[in-house]
Amino acid sequence: MITLLRRATAVCALGAALAACGTAEPPRAASTPASAPASRPPTLAPGPAGLTPVFAHGSRTRGRTVALTFDADMTAGQGARAAAGERFDHPRLISTLRTLKVPATVFMTGRWAEEYPDQARSIGRDPLFEVANHSYSHYAYTPDCYGLPTVPGTRMRSDVERAYAAFRRVGVPEPMPYFRFPGGCYDRRALKALAPTGVTAVQWDVVGGDAFETDPDVVVRQVLDGVRPGSVVVLHCTRSAAPATERAVRAIVPGLRREGFRFVKVSELIGAVGARP
Ligand SMILES: [Zn+2]
Repeated sequence: MITLLRRATAVCALGAALAACGTAEPPRAASTPASAPASRPPTLAPGPAGLTPVFAHGSRTRGRTVALTFDADMTAGQGARAAAGERFDHPRLISTLRTLKVPATVFMTGRWAEEYPDQARSIGRDPLFEVANHSYSHYAYTPDCYGLPTVPGTRMRSDVERAYAAFRRVGVPEPMPYFRFPGGCYDRRALKALAPTGVTAVQWDVVGGDAFETDPDVVVRQVLDGVRPGSVVVLHCTRSAAPATERAVRAIVPGLRREGFRFVKVSELIGAVGARP
């Protein structure tokens, strides 16, 4: 097992511009407005000054649950590459998750949903999965984030809303009010800009390390070493940029099940934060 410190360092290395990186704030209580229907997905209460709340992992003491999350990345400027044959989707990965009966949360860009509407709809309508928001454009919400183009502050909210509009248009019935910042990069300004949308920002505590990795064993080791009760694992659902992920998942799933872990969606981890022990 790698140490907590090393794991935190790995997360910080990925999210270089991550605000509050390395701090271990306990998750805030989940909020469910009294007037909301029972089926409304759980979210975290807003942070100080009404900022968008940030969730990185679930309870460490409520059982051995783990959430695999898959970012379906496609950047607004990659249409020409998709037209030339590059595949930003990963149907075999989704099929493997179904075969292994692994619930998962897919953080999808609006641009991805537009490129692969049938797959987006199929994932969105499958109760095994939940679709969450990974922005429309996959542009960065901070000035310096892995060289991604930047969304101006005045357009952050509309970029998120545009992704939800794309999900609705292709037939994703109930996308979740969860948002993952492209590159995991955020700051106070971004959290403030998104507050009116009511989303909970979802980070992670385990980096799968599958981006551009060709050896599945590297990913398997990193995930099996990193997962603790309540962990959120970030992986990718993009064939061209995550070529080993599907093979890795075929080993990660039985490996974690052998250790007594149960796979859940992010909503279950967030919902458990406010539940009684
Ligand atoms: Zn991404």
